[in-house]
Amino acid sequence: MIGVASMPGKAVSADLYRGHFTNKYVAVTGAARGIGLAIARAFAESGATVCLIDRDDYVQFASDDLKADGLDVCALQADVTDEIQMVRLFEELGTSWGKLDVLVNNAGVIAISDLADTSVADFKRVLDVNTTAMFLGIREAAPLLRAAGGGSILNAASGQARQGFIYTPSYAASKFGVLGLTQSLAKELAMDKIRVNAYCPGIVATEMWEYNDREWGSRLGNYKPGELIAEWIDNIPLGRPASESDVSNLILFLASSAAEYITGQAVNIDGGMFMN
Ligand code: NAD
Repeated sequence: MIGVASMPGKAVSADLYRGHFTNKYVAVTGAARGIGLAIARAFAESGATVCLIDRDDYVQFASDDLKADGLDVCALQADVTDEIQMVRLFEELGTSWGKLDVLVNNAGVIAISDLADTSVADFKRVLDVNTTAMFLGIREAAPLLRAAGGGSILNAASGQARQGFIYTPSYAASKFGVLGLTQSLAKELAMDKIRVNAYCPGIVATEMWEYNDREWGSRLGNYKPGELIAEWIDNIPLGRPASESDVSNLILFLASSAAEYITGQAVNIDGGMFMN
């Protein structure tokens, strides 16, 4: 890792929400690692039954690790952009669980490249994963959320849903798109008591940031590994990057009954990087 992975940011959710999600069924995409895995663990530690979804077969190991800690989880390997796989996946969850209380659309990818080197296919790939797949997941999950009598959907956006950064037009467009999708579906699904909100992390030192540090670093100057991210972290008002737990704490709040009057919102979780 690039040296900032284990910054503080405690997983308070397990204590705060102990038992809060008992008898609740939760699906988390992009859960093989990083933020998604932390969210899956936090829900499971708070009593939920959780399905970890990822295209990477490592998702099975991640799920086994959580099971070894006595948590009630399962893993399903699927590409969130594949309509047939996603239709089948939610059919499978419907058969096993009969309902769904929380869907976390967390899977995401970033691409950093110069305009001239970016093909239309490259651009579409990022939008497919980050935005179109979110629409697909929500469409397929909605009947199960209705069967639960209502529920909560959380969509991964980003600081790049507030301001586009250089060399990432597809990522910025995809994350701005997440906010529009969140607002529109929050209005449509409110009648079914399904709340839809987005979360906007700033810098979380996951594997995604190893790539960001390298690719932005080489374009923005002659940065050595870890130097660019350190420079950006210096500009965060709270003086550190987010931990995965900072993000999972927010997600559990937004999914909890304490947030039952919150829908259609995008919440920054970035130590003050963006204040809009
Ligand atoms: P990560 O790269 O560490 O993990 C992403 C996970 O998503 C991986 O397990 C990957 O296999 C999975 N995934 C990617 N494409 C998929 C697909 N088509 N189908 C199924 N699974 C797929 O990323 P992360 O840092 O944990 O980020 C999680 C989310 O948070 C993303 O949506 C990302 O855009 C967003 N985010 C991250 C940061 C950050 O600083 N790390 C900042 C803002 C927003």
